[in-house]
Amino acid sequence: MLNVGKIEEGFVLDHIKAGKAMLIYHYLHLDKLDCPVAIIKNARSEVMGKKDILKVECDINTLNLDVLAFIDRTITINVIKAGEIVEKKQVKLPQELRGIIHCHNPRCITSIEQGLPHIFYLADDKKRIYRCRFCDEKYDSARVAEIWK
Ligand SMILES: [Zn+2]
Repeated sequence: MLNVGKIEEGFVLDHIKAGKAMLIYHYLHLDKLDCPVAIIKNARSEVMGKKDILKVECDINTLNLDVLAFIDRTITINVIKAGEIVEKKQVKLPQELRGIIHCHNPRCITSIEQGLPHIFYLADDKKRIYRCRFCDEKYDSARVAEIWK
């Protein structure tokens, strides 16, 4: 496999479905970070065939990772300290998404009034559906990829 160098301090998002790395890059606002970020696309995987990997050399606690399971449930997070993996985590859907996705309902109060927080609550864990706290507009995981259209 392509070797992008070892991380000393940071985290690796592994087992990302091939093609989803840039979506995650967008939602985590990795473009705004000063630290090194490596995007590996189409890495070979025995389990998945192809997968994407993101390596981020910054403190994991400075980023809001809530959106990960909404984009892709297969992702695993490896936390790296002093060059070693100290923790492996599975991603899961949080009960609430705050300020990550925006309501598309033009009549929603968050569309009319600027500066309101965009808050969604988890309505269906199995189907990965969130609903707007203010107007109940549905937001499913297919919609999260629509920023490219
Ligand atoms: Zn709404």
